[in-house]
Parts: sequence; structure tokens; C-alpha cells
Amino acid sequence: MILLKIGVLALQGDFEKHFSMIRKAGAVPLKIRSIDDLEYIDGLIIPGGESTTIGKLLKRFNLLPHLKEKIGDGLPVFGTCAGMILLAREITGSDQLRIGAMDITVTRNAYGSQVDSFEADVNVPGISAEPVRAVFIRAPIVTDFSPEVKVLARFEDRPVLIRQDKLLASSFHPELTDNDAIHRYFLSMI
Ligand code: GLN
Repeated sequence: MILLKIGVLALQGDFEKHFSMIRKAGAVPLKIRSIDDLEYIDGLIIPGGESTTIGKLLKRFNLLPHLKEKIGDGLPVFGTCAGMILLAREITGSDQLRIGAMDITVTRNAYGSQVDSFEADVNVPGISAEPVRAVFIRAPIVTDFSPEVKVLARFEDRPVLIRQDKLLASSFHPELTDNDAIHRYFLSMI
């Protein structure tokens, strides 16, 4: 059996936890820090962290244009939290650097400073038989999306897991629980 190789962008943020999830889901994780690293992967995860910092580092390491090209060529990408922000075409009130490959508008830190982090059970029909324990950390809210975007899960009526073709994005951190259903779903997209 040939195992899929999943890159995790490892410039800043919580990439380590994705490594264990990728292994648990039955694939091989690889750290991505350079253009060359992108050549050997079947899919890429952009982790949570600080989207402005990750955006600047993507530019500094010259990864931004190459990543856009790879995505244009069909590279499957899963962005979690800051990763979702980097995938969004529109970021409310911000001109920060981004990949901008998904037809969504997001507002950063939108659950308010009083509630920086919280957990909730989220139903993900067709992906996980049980509700997924979703960890939200200074999470973005998806305020708008095009008809090409499929909403796979909602929390309090807001989209929190979405897909557009080969791009998947969650406003929460699926790597911070024991449930690898969403990572397995990403592998199934490849
Ligand atoms: N608030 C962060 C940002 O705007 C995202 C937080 C996270 O990834 N957990 O980039």
C-alpha cells in the first residue's frame, strides 16, 4: 500500500499536533518550510497560529507564489483557523498577505475578546458518526461565501467547516482532539 504524504506548513503555529493526527489517519506527515518541500506531497495542511505572521513568512521564504500555483494545479489543502484565514479571498478590514484561494469572506477573532477560546460539540454529518469536539481559539467567522463553497458543518448557524473543490477549511482546531475523522475526510479528498 502506498501511503499519502501530507505536508504541514511549519513556519509558525501549532503544526506538531497535526503530525500525530496525520499518522493516526494513516498517512505520512512532512514538514514544509521551502519551495522544494512542496514537490513531495499529496496534500497540505496550513495550521492555526497567527495568520499575519504566517503570511509574512510565506512571502519571506518565497512560498506564496509557488503555493498559489500548486493550488491552481489542484493541490488539496486543509486550512485550520489561521489556515482558513490565509485561504480566504476577503479578510474583513485587513490587507494582510494571504493565499486567497477560497471564495469566502472571514472576520478574524470574531467571537470577541471576552471569549478567546471555547469548545463545542459540532455535528459533521457524513464525516463523523459522533459529534466532533471542536476547539475554537481566537477563531474567525465566515461571513460570506460563494455558491461553490459547500458548508459541511455549522456551529450556532455559522459555517465552521467548509469545502471548495480540493480546499477544506475549519474555523476550529480538529487536531486538538482524539477524533481524526476530519483528517481522514481530508485524506479522502486526495
Ligand atoms: N486569531 C488568529 C489569526 O487571526 C487565528 C487563531 C488561530 O489560528 N487559532 O490569525
